Amino acid sequence: DEIKDEMYSLMENLFPICRSITGNGVRETLKILQNSIPLSKFEVPTGTKVFDWTIPKEWNIRDAYVMDSSGKKIINFKDSNLHILNYSIPKDIEITFNELKKHLFSIPDQPNEIPYVTSYYNENWGFCLEHKKLLNMKDEMYRVVIDSTLENGSLTYGEFFIEGESKDEILISTYVCHPSMCNDNLSGIVVATALAKYLKKFKLKYSLRFLFIPETIGAITWICKNEKKMKNIKHGLVLTCIGDRGKFVYKKTRMGNAEIDNTVIKILEKSNTSFDIIDFYPWGSDERQFSSPGFNLPIGSLMRSIPNREITKEYHTSGDNLDFMSKESLQDSFEKYFLIIGELEKNFGKHDTMPNNPNKKSTNNHTHYYLNTNPKCEPQLGKYQLYEHF
Ligand code: ZN
Repeated sequence: DEIKDEMYSLMENLFPICRSITGNGVRETLKILQNSIPLSKFEVPTGTKVFDWTIPKEWNIRDAYVMDSSGKKIINFKDSNLHILNYSIPKDIEITFNELKKHLFSIPDQPNEIPYVTSYYNENWGFCLEHKKLLNMKDEMYRVVIDSTLENGSLTYGEFFIEGESKDEILISTYVCHPSMCNDNLSGIVVATALAKYLKKFKLKYSLRFLFIPETIGAITWICKNEKKMKNIKHGLVLTCIGDRGKFVYKKTRMGNAEIDNTVIKILEKSNTSFDIIDFYPWGSDERQFSSPGFNLPIGSLMRSIPNREITKEYHTSGDNLDFMSKESLQDSFEKYFLIIGELEKNFGKHDTMPNNPNKKSTNNHTHYYLNTNPKCEPQLGKYQLYEHF
């Protein structure tokens, strides 16, 4: 009971903060986590090359609103930080409704929810709002104010390492870049923090590494700066979307038959709950980077509701709030991760930890594969005009 209350109250503390892939929201989040675990904070400057990517300018925001002709703030960042297109550039303009509409985002079939939309690598501005509110807006002049900054700064991430008897590591990675949403991604942050806090009291064979990083760019940055440590990571899980009432879903590693796959499935089977298993796919969260062909680490992801709005309507909307969470689910998820780490500990040294390498599949003479000449993490599609902007 103590752990579930701790996780839930940490979530309540973190919920109001406006996070992004850079900026003070991440720093403030990590500072709050430091009350629970002595994690180290790292800053990587804007412009640093990390494989195919470059650390972007740092974004911070103080206020933003759209005001109608009567002087009423009809969309207000201070009501919900989801109202701002994340990474919006500063603005202070008068604008017609027709022009403004190009910068408004809503979900027609979920008229009561605010969507979460970002524009990290394509300078833009915009507001997200409930579709029912958009339908009520009049064709008149509006004032748009965005008090933000997009300047040289740094990308911030946190790391907490528990040294075990062995150099071999278990990696638990979670991301810290989403604004006010709970399942994606505060549930991952609070379960990882609780695991780190309680596991540091044990003497373990494996070393444990906990990463609190901005999704995608943070993972790529960590890997680029820590490439030498990658060989020590024997098993890993990306911890996200784990606090709702849905059943467990395990996304397997890229190889599909790694020790972590067998271990997670064994723990779920033993627990007598229903669960789904899905194969690896090359989108999703930071398993994309850790399992990219240049590293090919066995990283799975034990989740609950799948982060896809066609399956989970709350995903990336204001519906992913504290009411969507369940303390019992958080507790149950914590216990599953705890048992998985315990099982890996029990089997330490018993297995050959290197699973089959899917890159070395035997092929017949008639099949040819293109070789990825840039296999470390994913390429930045935007700079090749391969990323769809709105
Ligand atoms: Zn997300």
